[in-house]
Amino acid sequence: MLKQIIPSKVCLSCDVCCRFIDKSAALAPLFLPNEITPKIKPYLDKSGRVTLKPFKDIHACPFFNTKKNKCSIYSKRPLDCRLYPFAIMFDEKREKIIMGIDKKCPFSVNAGNQALIKNYFHYLADLLEKKETASRIAINPSFIGNFQDDVSQFSYLDTLTKLLVNNPEKNGFRQISLKDKAAFDNFFKKIECPDSSQNFVNLFIWKEKNPVWWKKNGEGLEILIETDSGYIDFNSLKKFPDYIYLREALAGLKGNKYKHKRAGCNYFSKNYKFQYLPYRQNMKNDCLKLFIKWASARKQKFPDPYYHELLEDSFSAHKLAIKNFKALGLAGRVIKIRNKIAAYTFGFELTKDMFCVLLEVCDLKFKGIAEFIFREFCGELTNYKYINTMDDSGLENLRLSKLSYHTFLSRNRNFS
Ligand code: SF4
Ligand code: SF4
Repeated sequence: MLKQIIPSKVCLSCDVCCRFIDKSAALAPLFLPNEITPKIKPYLDKSGRVTLKPFKDIHACPFFNTKKNKCSIYSKRPLDCRLYPFAIMFDEKREKIIMGIDKKCPFSVNAGNQALIKNYFHYLADLLEKKETASRIAINPSFIGNFQDDVSQFSYLDTLTKLLVNNPEKNGFRQISLKDKAAFDNFFKKIECPDSSQNFVNLFIWKEKNPVWWKKNGEGLEILIETDSGYIDFNSLKKFPDYIYLREALAGLKGNKYKHKRAGCNYFSKNYKFQYLPYRQNMKNDCLKLFIKWASARKQKFPDPYYHELLEDSFSAHKLAIKNFKALGLAGRVIKIRNKIAAYTFGFELTKDMFCVLLEVCDLKFKGIAEFIFREFCGELTNYKYINTMDDSGLENLRLSKLSYHTFLSRNRNFS
């Protein structure tokens, strides 16, 4: 139910509403699907808009009682009528949806009522911007009228604009799925030095946090990332630099600068009875259990709320990666201690000479396990010159951890 601001007695003595000069008036009321009853339906066209009837030398809504000068279905009148004199319509360029007020309403243009109108406008805007209300309106795009000069504009309705104007589905985009991998691989392989985000695996595993929409555009792809603030062109996304290392350095851990990493590996291999194994699909649930344990330990150690959020979002990314590891072309390794998964790591070929380590999770009660699994994994990747451990998401703890391996390069999208 909408609050009404114009007193009934004002409306009952006014001759503007419910009457229209033009038979196909843009402001003729439109009923949303949930507002249509069997009694009302015969008076509507296919889009739910009323078919106006001749009245004197103009036209009137079929529900308008011309003798009593009032609506005959007042309690069942549609949202469109309840909103009046406010109107929702496209802006002149049809790029945004706006809310305005019809200058034909004498009450609304009266200078003495402006404070009331302004307050009511805020109330309406808040209501229409709610996702639930906007989604209900978006089901019927005809609800949004064309731009009209005699409606003064008040504000943009961003949620409706996002749903109706920028809706990628309307513009031929579709959501990413596993069967799209070949199309993305072909597209990204044309990039000479891609960063870790420029590949199917990373887009796919984060799709629950940020849905990915795409369509073909000639030889290329147009990719949109859905975020809380709307759809963003993939190419204009800000990206932190990747950390890139020489694989041989990580596999050998030689010299003074790696002495602490070496010590960690030595401690682990001397003090624990373990198995270092290729990942198998029957290990999926144990890996995810380990993730939960690991994430909870990380949250206790690092209080940064952004990092906590990242860990929470990471669960679905790890789940999608592990569940689809074969279809995504991932390589995976685990460490088992006393027959339980104590660490896992996954990665993929980013370019012919660079391997990207995508995930690494360890039970940190086993001292040196993180250093050990990383060194072993890098030791196996003899086909690659470089190891890319992706970016640090702007987090200090990740930055320090990645720098502790002494980067060969820390650059983004211009690696040469
Ligand atoms: S034009 Fe304004 S004052 Fe007149 S009936 Fe409609 S809402 Fe009421
Ligand atoms: S439904 Fe009622 S309020 Fe709406 S235009 Fe018709 S008569 Fe007027």
